[in-house]
Amino acid sequence: MAVNLLDFDLEGLTAFCEGLGEKRFRAVQLYRWIHQKGESDFGRMSDLAKSLRDKLAGVAEVRALPLMSEHRSADGTVKWLFDVGGGNAVEAVFIPEDDRGTLCVSSQAGCAVGCRFCSTGHQGFSRNLGSGEIVAQLWFAEHRLRQRLALPAGVRAIDNVVMMGMGEPLQNYAALVPALRTMLSDHAYGLSRRRVTVSTSGVVPMIDRLREDCPVALAVSLHAPNDALRDSLVPLNRKYPLQELLAACQRYLAAAPRDFITFEYCMLDGVNDTPELAHELVRLVQGQAAASRALGRISCKLNLIPFNPFTASGLKRSPRERVLAFAQVLQDAGIVTTIRKTRGDDIDAACGQLAGEVQDRTNARERLAARRDVIPIATVGGVS
Ligand code: SAH
Ligand code: SF4
Repeated sequence: MAVNLLDFDLEGLTAFCEGLGEKRFRAVQLYRWIHQKGESDFGRMSDLAKSLRDKLAGVAEVRALPLMSEHRSADGTVKWLFDVGGGNAVEAVFIPEDDRGTLCVSSQAGCAVGCRFCSTGHQGFSRNLGSGEIVAQLWFAEHRLRQRLALPAGVRAIDNVVMMGMGEPLQNYAALVPALRTMLSDHAYGLSRRRVTVSTSGVVPMIDRLREDCPVALAVSLHAPNDALRDSLVPLNRKYPLQELLAACQRYLAAAPRDFITFEYCMLDGVNDTPELAHELVRLVQGQAAASRALGRISCKLNLIPFNPFTASGLKRSPRERVLAFAQVLQDAGIVTTIRKTRGDDIDAACGQLAGEVQDRTNARERLAARRDVIPIATVGGVS
């Protein structure tokens, strides 16, 4: 099979071009064509020598992920479902906001961590995505949106990427890092280090490696202020309990002292949403709990996520007033706290929801086509 050039960061592409007997700067030109212009046809890369274009056409390709469906929410959120083979699908979600455009990207088909409140976790693990498959989500979304919105040359549609789609990115580390480097490269998407976020359920050794290899913004899915409760929600906690996780967070911050960690906390009715737990959370991040005393206060923000329910979980979303009361406790303690807006509710744009349906069904395409919120790909018009 032809080599997929989306798999390479600039260093990898340079090595590949050198292997073809080409000069290093050719790799920069090629990388720019692919990522800045969204070009996949070597024949149209006009400033590359004809001999190189022919050579590339023989051995390489820019392999996009096959698109299965596109869903557009009334609030402007767009969700794409991609076929990754073997009956599996992954999703990417574009979330437009006043001041930025965010793309939520998947790193795996399914997930092995198995968090109780996560539909991706309930599916189990199918496989890791390759670097090219991670980058392909951004490549596709960026260029599709630019075209549709008729953005002038040099204007980006996406300036913020969060690795918060399906999968645990730090359990697919080898593929993740080249993909992150392409997101950050000035010759590709040119995103700032603070506008690329890796979200993890807490794979401690890989948090340390990320700090050394590619220190982008870090979000840690906390969901509980003590080990007993977190063990029951995030099974990985039994392997890397809170004390170790928070120590890794402090090491991450030590490398970039002006940064902060975003702690995510999914609000589950009657499970982790009481005022007592909010106070316990304050003590934890302020270095006053047993698990954090040796570590001191952690520079962090809290992001409360209203739970997106699915039947198999047996869990419910916390009522709004409980979420507000929880947030108040944190805020009163001086912790910057946000409550995530639920976007794209009408198209199931939350973590793993739709792809979960697809995996279980043989005639996925027919069922998708029958859904009211699905726009057949052939008739998609402009982003509203
Ligand atoms: N595996 C990584 C990243 C993907 S999940 C992680 O766990 O951090 C991205 C975020 O969505 C996590 O914070 C996760 O806890 C949250 N999430 C998962 N299922 C959810 C659900 N049903 N409702 C709300 N948030 C959910
Ligand atoms: Fe995996 Fe994250 Fe879902 Fe947990 S919340 S099962 S780590 S994708």
